Amino acid sequence: MVNSAIPKYMYNLITDITPEDLRKMGVRAVGIDLDNTTVYDSGLKILSGVPEWILKIKQAGFLICIVTNTFTLRAAIIGKRLNVPYYAMSDKPKSKNVIKAAQKAGIDISEFALVGDRLFTDVVAANEAGAISIKTEPFQNEKLFRRSMEKKRDKETSFMIKHRPEFPKIMHKDRDRNDKNRKPRRFTSREN
Ligand SMILES: [Mg+2]
Repeated sequence: MVNSAIPKYMYNLITDITPEDLRKMGVRAVGIDLDNTTVYDSGLKILSGVPEWILKIKQAGFLICIVTNTFTLRAAIIGKRLNVPYYAMSDKPKSKNVIKAAQKAGIDISEFALVGDRLFTDVVAANEAGAISIKTEPFQNEKLFRRSMEKKRDKETSFMIKHRPEFPKIMHKDRDRNDKNRKPRRFTSREN
């Protein structure tokens, strides 16, 4: 469990990932997380640049799908808006839907990348499945279940600090700082 929380690649935003990057990684299909990776936390609003990014990735010949823990109706609405298939109620860190998505795409699990913002759900689900784990930075602080989410984020931060040498470097550092809706998350004292 511990080692499987270390991502293979790290990016600030999902939109920083290029088709060339994916090709170099040996990826043929991409699973994307919703909250704080492609949509605002707990909502339906899609993050700036994400629809264009999906189109670019598809046009470059990659298969793409949503792999989310959220309920089916919400995943269906977002899936329809983004025009991508979805796997809802995935129960990440369990990897069943990561494996299922790769099987449906007709590719080997080692050619499937899962992109998400959380170490102990997205990254673990990908690594345990034998897929390529790509971690992005969470877009904003969670609004729902704020206290429990803060605790989870703090655990992730502690883990990252403890295992820092094993973590890959962030592939692209220029982040969309002009997005006024982005609220950088608070860091706890442990991180200082
Ligand atoms: Mg997320």
